[in-house]
Amino acid sequence: MFLTGGEKTASLAPLPGGRNCSPRSMPETTMTAEHEPLRIALVGSAADQALGQRLEAAGRAPGAILLAAGDASSLLAGGAADAALIWLAAGDDVAAIASLVPLLDWLGLARASVVAVEVDGDAERLAAALSAWRQAAPAGNEAPLAAVPVNAAGEQPAWYEGPGLVEALARLEAMTERRPPPFRLLVEAGESAPPGTSLAGRLLGGQAAVGDEIVLSPSNQVARISALAGGERLVLELDRAVSAEAGEIVSLTGDAPIETDVFRARFQWQEATELEVGDELELELCGRHTPVRVQSLEAVIGRPPPATAVAKGELAEAILRSYTMLALDAFAHSPASGRFSLLRQGQVVGRGIVSMAGYADQRDLVTVRATNVTRVPHTVTTEARTRLNGHRGGVLWFTGLSASGKSTLAVEVERQLFARDFQVYVLDGDNIRHGLNANLGFSPEDRSENIRRVGEVAALFARAGFIALTAFISPYRSDRQRAREAAEGDFHEIFVDADLAACEERDPKGLYKRARDGEIPDFTGISAPYEAPESPELAVDTVNHDVAACVEQIIDYIESELGTEAAQRRSAG
Ligand code: ADP
Repeated sequence: MFLTGGEKTASLAPLPGGRNCSPRSMPETTMTAEHEPLRIALVGSAADQALGQRLEAAGRAPGAILLAAGDASSLLAGGAADAALIWLAAGDDVAAIASLVPLLDWLGLARASVVAVEVDGDAERLAAALSAWRQAAPAGNEAPLAAVPVNAAGEQPAWYEGPGLVEALARLEAMTERRPPPFRLLVEAGESAPPGTSLAGRLLGGQAAVGDEIVLSPSNQVARISALAGGERLVLELDRAVSAEAGEIVSLTGDAPIETDVFRARFQWQEATELEVGDELELELCGRHTPVRVQSLEAVIGRPPPATAVAKGELAEAILRSYTMLALDAFAHSPASGRFSLLRQGQVVGRGIVSMAGYADQRDLVTVRATNVTRVPHTVTTEARTRLNGHRGGVLWFTGLSASGKSTLAVEVERQLFARDFQVYVLDGDNIRHGLNANLGFSPEDRSENIRRVGEVAALFARAGFIALTAFISPYRSDRQRAREAAEGDFHEIFVDADLAACEERDPKGLYKRARDGEIPDFTGISAPYEAPESPELAVDTVNHDVAACVEQIIDYIESELGTEAAQRRSAG
């Protein structure tokens, strides 16, 4: 129920920063976003493009480009706006218009909005219309910045003495924070070239200057700009050769896109066939096409949880996973490169924006810095260690929610295996954070780095012939996959399975209570994601089985997978 109209898409303003970031204004002048007029998304059903033009012509939106957003897809597809003007006309389906508020919220516009109510009657009619709005609007968004009565031409009725639309829009203009966008240059199809020192692309936003260091994503090549020319299509001369593929994004090294294989997608579904968890789709991101899988559905706007499917026209939030690393931006950071389309058999079936809430930038985890390193060969072989120990080395990776039982089980398994002469050692979250990882916190990036280090340490233990039992929540699949790769085949994922309700009930350290009270931010399962294993080597159900039964199940598994005849003989004798 956004405005519709044939020419609106064409009349959308360029993507953020597009107009003021030509290299002609660099580096001498820094055009700040403050000089840009406010771009307003006009939201409603009765208002139309003509109204937008009248408003502007009448000076009702001073200095504003009226963006007249079409439907949700037009806003998601490319319309850039700093604020929203929600227009409620007499007879409007207020609930339908209010259902778009979550979309404004995703776009960062919900708090920068003004409601204009078309009333021909008196103050009572205005009050009634606003009360209907408050009832329909989602919690937290009932109170817009301002609500003003207007007639169909956008003028104030004579009886109304409060601030009018002009003042309300001026207030919006004054309080809307508009940061200049980061520098993003998109290497488009047909512009990939053999390795060379010249690089061309379309400017999505921001500024760069001679001397700046740039990085290409996702290929991670770095160079310095020695000259630049052009406008929207920019040509960079670099101090060293790079090879750029279509879809690659050029940025400054200090403010590069995120690299990840998982992200939070907020989108509108546009196909009659419903979207479900597990569906395979094609993701189009800055011209680059990548297969993705719907890992989970977090919410469908307007439907009670749990979300199981998304129907045509619905707005939804899903976790999408790709099979390769993606270079992307959160929409909130860079609107121009934070948008995507979803395709099925070549047809666009959804459009949306990227959120990274709760997910880590994996760039630092996959970047190899030292290049002059070679491995020292060992003369003690793995077979010799196995013979001596009576069992093979390996990583037993316990993952599960806090209080699911990882530490309890790992410590008891260690005790019993040690008693049977196994070389075994527990790496526990709390202990490692006191030493090796004392410099890491609980942000998504720090959690990932925490797990990367543990994965490497556990792999060393395994190579030394030990059975390393690791007890870490390790909420991200990507991190566990990296730990698996570090162990080079000696990796066994054990899902310590207890649902959130059971863990919260146990709460041995009182952490869930503190998280619910808001004392611990980013708490897994409550305010941060937990991605359960899809195909663990072993799953233990700690809700329906006691500690002894779970320990027995794990030890049986270890003995059958890693134990050797020598160990069995020893434990028998
Ligand atoms: P985590 O290391 O996963 O955070 P802990 O081992 O510290 O979890 O805490 C798990 C809690 O659940 C302990 O209080 C433990 O006694 C209890 N518990 C109940 N049943 C089981 C089970 N089958 N396995 C493991 N722990 C269990």
